Amino acid sequence: MLGAIIGDMVGSMYEFHPCKTKKFNIYDYRMRTTDDSYLTMAVAKVLMDNYPINYTKESLKKIQKELAKEFVRTFRNNLNCGFGAKFYDWCLASLDMCEIQPPYNSYGNGSAMRISPVGWIAKTEKELKTLSKTVTEITHNHPEGIKGAEAIALCIFMALRGYTKDEIGERMIKEYYPEIAGFCFENLVKTYEFSEICQKSVPQAIYCFLISNSLEDAIRNCVAIGGDVDTIGAMAGSIAEAYYQSDSLCDFEDKFLYLIVDPEVEDFVKKFHQTIGTGKFK
Ligand SMILES: [Mg+2]
Repeated sequence: MLGAIIGDMVGSMYEFHPCKTKKFNIYDYRMRTTDDSYLTMAVAKVLMDNYPINYTKESLKKIQKELAKEFVRTFRNNLNCGFGAKFYDWCLASLDMCEIQPPYNSYGNGSAMRISPVGWIAKTEKELKTLSKTVTEITHNHPEGIKGAEAIALCIFMALRGYTKDEIGERMIKEYYPEIAGFCFENLVKTYEFSEICQKSVPQAIYCFLISNSLEDAIRNCVAIGGDVDTIGAMAGSIAEAYYQSDSLCDFEDKFLYLIVDPEVEDFVKKFHQTIGTGKFK
């Protein structure tokens, strides 16, 4: 989850001003947490409140009900943090009618930017797919929205279990996004353009992780290809954290926690890891 937050923060500098290079100041004081971080924390909060997760129909319905409310609460508290237009309208309508509105068939990448806690919490692939769908279909019930979230969550799940980048990449190419096999970093830097849909940003984020050698490197790859960088950064960062830093903090994360990440966010991230019992902050 910290990888998602850092990726979001770094990317927030470049979402509308692509720099198209890996050489930039990654500790820029102007960076901010945006919707990607806030909604990731909303998912984490409700899953922590319900931890250990019970996978019965009733329990999953309860999680959906609580999470829909938490999404709207997060919206009210952070109106100007960059929510997608459809999510914004869904929250407003839910507030206007004082009733959670039905999902809006979205395949926006909002489904995948907020999913990382699921990758850490699910204990089997079956649980992962069920929990990912439960969290996602509150808003993003289009098959591509469900698929994008599941792909990111599965990458995290596999990374935490010691699968190699080759194994994760092969699985993604075979079952989710065959186009990853044809990606070339230099080409993406030259030609990739802004897109907020899963189909055109989730595979790129996975690729930025696959060709990385550290969490920082994965995030630099995202900034270099450009596009919806805070969200691509959040997705690639969340996988890279699980792969490189699941039970330790690297110097890069340490620096963020020391001067850049808000103390409340740091406390929240620590609480998440304590609740689910990882070695990250030991
Ligand atoms: Mg954002």
